[in-house]
Amino acid sequence: MKAAQKKTQLNQSSARFESLKRELASLATQTGFLLTGSVQSRFFECSRPSNCWCHDDPANRHGPYRYWTRKEKGKTVSVSLDDEQLALVQRWIENGRALERLLKQMRHESIRAIALTTRKKATETSTTRRR
Ligand SMILES: [Zn+2]
Repeated sequence: MKAAQKKTQLNQSSARFESLKRELASLATQTGFLLTGSVQSRFFECSRPSNCWCHDDPANRHGPYRYWTRKEKGKTVSVSLDDEQLALVQRWIENGRALERLLKQMRHESIRAIALTTRKKATETSTTRRR
């Protein structure tokens, strides 16, 4: 790629990054709490005598019981939620995901930019071989 072409592409990349930064600033002022993880629903058969309807058919099991599940230091942590907490947790997870999506785009654009500023791969390879 010619130097002038690289410069144009780098300028375009910078413009996209500036636009993402404005989005981030806007999102940062509007967002609420941020959570990672997801909400899961579980159904159970109870330990009551076998005459409870939940033992007849999997569709009759008790539930749904809602859980917020996330990874913490490589381990899965689950917290049961009541209806009020469920609404909050869902909103806060969505806040976190929106921010993550934007950060991912910013990292992607940054990788594109550094690729345009570094020397050609071929030059790097021949330099490595000479050593
Ligand atoms: Zn039951």
